[in-house]
Amino acid sequence: MPAFYKEWGYRALLTLKKGIVMAPQPRPAIYVGAGASLDLCKAIGHFGLKNVLIVTDKPLVELGLLNDAIARLNSLGVATHIYDGVLPDPTVHVVSTGLEMLHKQNCDAVLAIGGGSSIDTAKIIALAGANKLSVLECVGLKKGKVPALPLFAIPTTAGTGSEVTIVAVVSDDETHQKLMVADPKIIPSAAALDPALMTGLPPHITAATGMDALTHAIESYINTWDSEDCLQYGRAATKLILGNLEQACSNGDDLAARESMAVASYYAGLAFTNCLVGYVHAVSHQLGALYSVPHGLGNAMVLPHVLELLRDSAASRLAELARYCDLGQPGEADIELAQKLIDRIWQLNSAIGIPKTTDVIKEADIPDIVSAALKEASGYPVPRFLERGECEDLVHGLRSAA
Ligand code: NAD
Repeated sequence: MPAFYKEWGYRALLTLKKGIVMAPQPRPAIYVGAGASLDLCKAIGHFGLKNVLIVTDKPLVELGLLNDAIARLNSLGVATHIYDGVLPDPTVHVVSTGLEMLHKQNCDAVLAIGGGSSIDTAKIIALAGANKLSVLECVGLKKGKVPALPLFAIPTTAGTGSEVTIVAVVSDDETHQKLMVADPKIIPSAAALDPALMTGLPPHITAATGMDALTHAIESYINTWDSEDCLQYGRAATKLILGNLEQACSNGDDLAARESMAVASYYAGLAFTNCLVGYVHAVSHQLGALYSVPHGLGNAMVLPHVLELLRDSAASRLAELARYCDLGQPGEADIELAQKLIDRIWQLNSAIGIPKTTDVIKEADIPDIVSAALKEASGYPVPRFLERGECEDLVHGLRSAA
């Protein structure tokens, strides 16, 4: 067992974390379907909110994706201020600039319209704003004393599930290491899963974000924390993604496929907000921090590699998923079904253009990547802990010649 596990008393920490994370969490009211984002705006008007900060990014403003929501809010007497400074993997500076705008404009609510980067930024702004904290003071577990400002989310990617999770991720400006804000107070009170806002999402982002959702579903499903809820949502998300992601990538205008992916991402969020994630995230976070590999793409590439390594330890859970997704034949052994699920993921990755390996990883960085990944994974209830050599092989396996 690596020394730092003993040092941290990781079992005690995990038990403590389980108590906190798996305590009943609030869930957002959910509006689903084409036009659902406008229903959510109507609800914001009904709640009597008057001055909303919309947190988003410039490309979405330029695409005109916010226009209908702003018009609907304004028609209901709700003033809107746009913070469009969000960048992928938002840094402390990016979130702090939005927080300044919230204070300057005296906003009484926050609405995220965008991918996980915009939603996470909005979540931290709403918590920091209500609690008079800086962004860095929000980092950690339950740093808010009073509820966040009223917070709403309209995801425009189908991947992170951030609209339903207790976490928000912010990156250190210098090191780009990801810092976690974890607090049930940042779960939005309502969210809209509106496939009409997702039809313009380019195929490569659709692919990467969709595989992010699949990673949430599968990593939480094979983890050792049992929760019937988590299993149910993980199964449903996996089946929806295996059945719809290819179509969403190849025909972005297919509203039914887009809606299925949005719902799957939400289900996967419900699953991992309780049962957490594992080695896929632990490795892919390092690729994001060191080489700016987008979060979803990193997860998508790493997922099948990790599942091959954990196949035997997680065989029964992987086989359950395979059966639920109609892979394999009745009576087949767990280990065969587990492999069929993994093979299906390799095949899906190949069909949607996710590479098996990447040339961004520098040989000299591998020891640090491995150390950081092992340290991060020690905080997750993974099916089994990897030895350092196994993790090194995993990262070498991901690396292709430059
Ligand atoms: P993103 O929000 O970074 O967006 C990626 C790109 O897609 C951006 O350029 C954006 O403008 C574009 N885009 C988004 N929606 C679009 C649309 N409908 N049409 C055209 N372009 C669109 O990507 P993401 O993968 O959704 O979010 C990643 C972030 O979420 C990371 O910072 C990650 O750490 C975080 N995350 C958070 C959680 C959580 O539970 N809080 C979970 C997973 C990931």
